[in-house]
Amino acid sequence: MSDPAVRGKSQMKSAMILEGVAFAYDAEPVLKGLDLEIPEAALIAVVGPNGSGKSTLLKTIIGINRMSAGRILVSDASSKTGYTDLSSLNQRQTAQMIAYLPQQRNVPDITASRLVLHGRFPYLSYPRRYTKEDLALAEKALKAAGAEDLAPVNLERMSGGQRQKIYIAMALAQDTGLMLLDEPTTYLDIYQQIEIMKLLKSLTLPENGAKTVCVVMHDIVQALKFADCIAVLDEGRVSACASPEEIYESGVLDKVFGVKIRRIDAPPKHQYYVE
Ligand code: ADP
Repeated sequence: MSDPAVRGKSQMKSAMILEGVAFAYDAEPVLKGLDLEIPEAALIAVVGPNGSGKSTLLKTIIGINRMSAGRILVSDASSKTGYTDLSSLNQRQTAQMIAYLPQQRNVPDITASRLVLHGRFPYLSYPRRYTKEDLALAEKALKAAGAEDLAPVNLERMSGGQRQKIYIAMALAQDTGLMLLDEPTTYLDIYQQIEIMKLLKSLTLPENGAKTVCVVMHDIVQALKFADCIAVLDEGRVSACASPEEIYESGVLDKVFGVKIRRIDAPPKHQYYVE
């Protein structure tokens, strides 16, 4: 594995390891031999300029894009080595390990409780019939997303923030250790953005299943505020992956985004802003 310019000091176990991942839609490669280790039970923000390949990366992990080189290992307690190569799994098996929420979603004419049940699809055999366990897990997921009151409500009647909680509940019902979300706070007002980020962060806690939550974010200040670890994508590679403090101190965000980020020391945490 090549060394990214900035690497975190953390010795946490990895939920996922990407080695030399390459992908191209056409002649020009988008992912150019990308290396990344995603720590377990943490909130990871993937940031990078528009077009740097953030969405492409998530789609490549989940198998929507077929990578041309490299491998992706996912933590798997049932495997002797502790990891499973994603290329050995079919779509259904992958969906039992990784939940993925894409950025663009239409608003379906469906109640929250029905939509959340869709998270159980990877576990159903034909003909699709939900078991008691499926129903219980969907209910638990709605509760974990703080959206149990919305169970009977149609998604068309919800605010953007409420709808996003339902999609997160659907991903939770998928009962995976890893969740990938593509810009989950886009189009939300600032209050709802913060609510969703707090919810995602809470999912990494042991009492909420210690999930690994990997989020593509366009707001670097929010990434610095909420993430345990930030992966910076630049020109098809991860140019840095480390804690917000290490990322800030490295100056990599200033360089990649062409802005000046400042920090105010406000113990016990730092406050960041863009000048
Ligand atoms: P980001 O999420 O960082 O904004 P994307 O992953 O969406 O970046 O895009 C990375 C590059 O791949 C861009 O140059 C974009 O135009 C291109 N791209 C994205 N999706 C497709 C597609 N379906 N077909 C061809 N090119 C694409």
